[in-house]
Amino acid sequence: MVDPHECPVCYQVFEGAIYQCSPEGGHVVCSSCFGKLKECPVCREEFSIPKIRCRALEHQLDSQEFECQFKNEGCDYKCKRALVSSHINSCGFNPKFTNLCNLLGWNECKFLLGACSKTQIIQHFKEKHNLDMDFDAVFSLDLQSIVNSIKDDKRNGCLALLFASSSEDMSPVFLLVGKVNDSIGFVTFLCIKIWESEGISQAYKVDFSIRRKHSLLLNWTLNVYTLQEAKHTLEMCPVNIPKGILENGLFGSNKMEV
Ligand SMILES: [Zn+2]
Ligand SMILES: [Zn+2]
Ligand SMILES: [Zn+2]
Ligand SMILES: [Zn+2]
Repeated sequence: MVDPHECPVCYQVFEGAIYQCSPEGGHVVCSSCFGKLKECPVCREEFSIPKIRCRALEHQLDSQEFECQFKNEGCDYKCKRALVSSHINSCGFNPKFTNLCNLLGWNECKFLLGACSKTQIIQHFKEKHNLDMDFDAVFSLDLQSIVNSIKDDKRNGCLALLFASSSEDMSPVFLLVGKVNDSIGFVTFLCIKIWESEGISQAYKVDFSIRRKHSLLLNWTLNVYTLQEAKHTLEMCPVNIPKGILENGLFGSNKMEV
């Protein structure tokens, strides 16, 4: 069964001009597929010259509203046919994207991870959310101020953006997240890989430690989570650290490796 809204070759909604094979055949394809094909995909006749545009179907589709393909995921957006793909590429219900900002408690933020460049991501977290940066993946933070800042902001508490290497453009970007659970008095820390070079999928671990003066109080290792995992792990709090331990300690991470 052919869906009259979609090109039978690429299965995309007809967003632009529509062409038909011949006056008799009447089979239609989108302008992009028409440019790539020599013959009609249905009746195998060569396309007529000059090409025949199918204005009747264009007009019919112009009067219709199109639902987002992620309707079942919860999107109730409707638009004209020309806007369908641009919406898909910015739809918050597209499973390819993650609105990590929302998950972290910045509820107004519409920024989607999964489709943007490393530079855009860094710029976003730096300028929109005032995050600290650390370029060596070895850092030390004053825990009391972390605990305070997480509490004040009423969000999950993004702490810092981390880079495996400052010199290498393709090195992944990590986000360090701290969550305070005030009712039970625990803090949990997570590290999420928010960008990595296309085609690469490398697993990382992060080493956390809490020091007081010069002694090591606590040391633990967690997997670095991917964006897809982050949706679930943000609710999970894998390692809970009693707030009391943090009060006079220094918190840090000193290793990030495979
Ligand atoms: Zn097509
Ligand atoms: Zn045909
Ligand atoms: Zn949508
Ligand atoms: Zn944001």
